[in-house]
Amino acid sequence: MIASAKVMLLGDIGVGKSSLARRLVFDRFETDYKTTIGVDVLTYEMATALGPLKLILWDTDGDFGASIFETVYMRGASAAVIVADASRPATLVKLAGLARGFTDRLPGRELTAVINKIDLVGDARLAIPPEMEAGAILRTSARTGEGVVEMFASLGAGILRRGL
Ligand code: GDP
Repeated sequence: MIASAKVMLLGDIGVGKSSLARRLVFDRFETDYKTTIGVDVLTYEMATALGPLKLILWDTDGDFGASIFETVYMRGASAAVIVADASRPATLVKLAGLARGFTDRLPGRELTAVINKIDLVGDARLAIPPEMEAGAILRTSARTGEGVVEMFASLGAGILRRGL
């Protein structure tokens, strides 16, 4: 049986969580799908150096904020992708708070921090919140696809490395 891992997509409303999942799974960028209410689930099978892995992506409604950690949605999660929007610096502050909440509540799980929409800002350097390591934050564009497959590949490898 293929290994599978539940992955929570977290981050402020509109940062591009649904768009990243759709870019990965359908290789498409659409602007006219419905906003997530509650949670959507998409799956993606990938090959890794440690064998195949099925990611079960839980795309949450950003309205949860940090209260997501109190909900049943987090049960059984192996990892989180926490997303910020390159064009809205305040979403990076939210990312830092969610990252702290996730490592407090689910220690030892894989965490990937992502700045999405890099197509909007070019090479501009964003102010990374001091508690985050700049090098640990990946950059993606769901619109152009830049960095998306690589980001989920590194997440999947991290999940298997941790044996989650
Ligand atoms: P969510 O609420 O975090 O799931 O965000 P969505 O995926 O619904 O995206 C919110 C808005 O940002 C939509 O209008 C998307 O088309 C747009 N968007 C998402 N990702 C990108 C991106 O990488 N670049 C650009 N330019 N727009 C994006």
